[in-house]
Amino acid sequence: MRGRQVVSLLAAGLTVACSASNSATGDRAADREAPIASRPPAAARSVSAATAGTTGIGDPYFPGDGNGGYDVTRYALALAYDPRSKHLGGSATIDAKATQELSQFNLDLHGFTVSAVTVNGRPAQFERHGDELTIFADLRDGAVFKVAVAYAGTPDPVQNSSNLGSYGFIPTADGAFVTCEPNGAKTWFPSNDHPSDKATFDFTLTVPEGVTAIANGELAGTPQTKDGKTTFVWRESNPMTTYLATMTTGKFKVRTGDSPGGIPVYAATDPRFSNTLNTLYDQSARITDYWTTVFGPYPFKSTGGVVDDFAAGYALENQTKPIYGGFEPDEGIIAHELAHQWFGNSLSINRWKDLWLNEGFATYAEWLWSEHRGNGTAQQSFEDAYASATDEIWKYPPGVTRPHDLFNASVYVRGGMALHALRTEIGDTKFFPLLKKWTADHRYGNVTTEQFIDLAEKISGEQLDDLFDAWLFKPAKPASVR
Ligand SMILES: [Zn+2]
Repeated sequence: MRGRQVVSLLAAGLTVACSASNSATGDRAADREAPIASRPPAAARSVSAATAGTTGIGDPYFPGDGNGGYDVTRYALALAYDPRSKHLGGSATIDAKATQELSQFNLDLHGFTVSAVTVNGRPAQFERHGDELTIFADLRDGAVFKVAVAYAGTPDPVQNSSNLGSYGFIPTADGAFVTCEPNGAKTWFPSNDHPSDKATFDFTLTVPEGVTAIANGELAGTPQTKDGKTTFVWRESNPMTTYLATMTTGKFKVRTGDSPGGIPVYAATDPRFSNTLNTLYDQSARITDYWTTVFGPYPFKSTGGVVDDFAAGYALENQTKPIYGGFEPDEGIIAHELAHQWFGNSLSINRWKDLWLNEGFATYAEWLWSEHRGNGTAQQSFEDAYASATDEIWKYPPGVTRPHDLFNASVYVRGGMALHALRTEIGDTKFFPLLKKWTADHRYGNVTTEQFIDLAEKISGEQLDDLFDAWLFKPAKPASVR
């Protein structure tokens, strides 16, 4: 993710974007819809605490996010959306594996009316509490199971999050703008909504004829139109975190092809931004190709970008299709979002405290792109950032993000500076092989800051505690590097 105007925001001493805490998501759904009382009476149940999956996955920053007791391998979403009525409905079928003996488990879902749940094809009892959908089913440890949830309603995105504004499933005049970091997936499908549980995705999306539905991965066949409705089938066959999933819909002009390096490209722009389609296409293709030479093989089957007319004021690195909210992206922000395909998307954080592994790397990628284009070296970008950094950045160590200020400028800029300090210390002959080894070792997996530090020390043969302490963990201004 990146705010549109990171440089001017920094100069003004503001943060780039803000946290989206659980309190921000609130309990609106619970207020609006009565919980469905389909749970058997208490006397009929024998729920042992030992076999109830926990209501959170264990991230202390977002205790309600994700769930315990199982691991999702695949989501199959079959959804219809009507931009006129703003009605979203259909089913989510989830393949998962129990990681403990279970008598009940949770999915995260905000709003909607759930009409039916099945587990392995059999009707299952369920209940709602806030953003938790609890499903009752007896599953042995290690069991592979399939849960299907039928649901419908009007999506209720997260709004007025202190500086992210809105996120999740956001209805627009001609469709919907769907960006879910950090925990907005639950505003459109039931999920294990935390980046530590990655899965593949199939999307079968039905919209009125004339509307384009864009999801992650690649189109499976030509969209089919019948009775005034068109169905788009998209497949993301590589693991993806829930916050990177999208079903952005609306009127779009689309261009497809292959990058010079042979990677399929899908670019789409809202009619208001149609004059930027070719630039978006060309730059996304060229930048993806270049990053393969710096970061290693491209992790996914296609690349691209989407410009919608919703004025989000930010861009999000949706897997294979970064989305730019209501502005014409420049090369720097495209370089940032495409670098995330490696850092954040292929290699995903295990806990939100390590967000600099996404944002620090993507910010440093902007500096590397500038260097590649002859528009100023990374050293110059570092010096500019160091000179203009506010006290706020020096007080906020980016190695441990703050849950209520997740997207602070420090996580981006001081995170990027940390990587430049590392490059300066170990030299280009170690630094660039380190980046490629990092992306190769953890391709499609989850990562922690400790793992990165260990690998940097292994590849450089140096003890780097002082460097990382100064740049990532101490609330003080480190010495500049040259
Ligand atoms: Zn970013």
